[in-house]
Amino acid sequence: MVDSHCHLAGREFADDLEAVVARAHAAGVSRALVILAADAQAELDRWPAVQQAWPAVRAAVGIHPHQAAAYAGDPVEAGRLLERRLDAVVGAVAVGEIGLDYHYDFAPRGVQQAVFEAQLAVAERRQLPVVIHTREAEEDTLRILRGAHGVTTRGVFHCFSGDIGALARALDTGYFVSVPGIVTFPRSTALREALTAAPRDRVLVETDSPYLAPVPVRGLRNEPAYVARVVETLAGLWSTTPEAVSRQVSDNFHRLFGA
Ligand SMILES: [Zn+2]
Ligand SMILES: [Zn+2]
Repeated sequence: MVDSHCHLAGREFADDLEAVVARAHAAGVSRALVILAADAQAELDRWPAVQQAWPAVRAAVGIHPHQAAAYAGDPVEAGRLLERRLDAVVGAVAVGEIGLDYHYDFAPRGVQQAVFEAQLAVAERRQLPVVIHTREAEEDTLRILRGAHGVTTRGVFHCFSGDIGALARALDTGYFVSVPGIVTFPRSTALREALTAAPRDRVLVETDSPYLAPVPVRGLRNEPAYVARVVETLAGLWSTTPEAVSRQVSDNFHRLFGA
């Protein structure tokens, strides 16, 4: 199976990366998409070590909405920085995570939108898939994705945790949805309901490590091996085997990211 979203170049993994990779392999996780923050030099510096420890991983590079305020005076610079990073990062196959976060509102919403748009334009120009982070900002996210001419990019809504209506609206863009460990939480009934009927060829799975550890390790540091919990949960919802879900999400990952 594939963990479609993890922050393995984060400092949380700096000390025991090899053990983390070994546990991922033991759990049947053969590949992962590692999210790199375009403006976090320490993370970019650790990327070669991640690739060395796990040659099958690929990267997405982007400026997170939490960091958008740094580009308030010149949102276009966000796009220029992204282009430089995409040229420099070996194994970069996607743009992300980018989007809008109105839950924390670390940057003014107008600035978040401009920085998101500047990076979407880069993805469109380079025909790269996009990893979207959207939190309490569904309407603006969809409006920006559609732009003036409809959706012109391909990608995934990472950490999807909405209900059946939100799922339909997300899939309507042609994007995939990526299911996080939240699906294992007892209160996530509406999410499980939505996913039960979801088209299986549009679903990815992720950990968002080191965040969002699933049951039964909730609250601890998350890591790619635990994406198996998400796969097991989906297998239950879809009345099939974890192996079948694993094959399906791997195929889906390959179709979207070519990796
Ligand atoms: Zn995110
Ligand atoms: Zn993330």
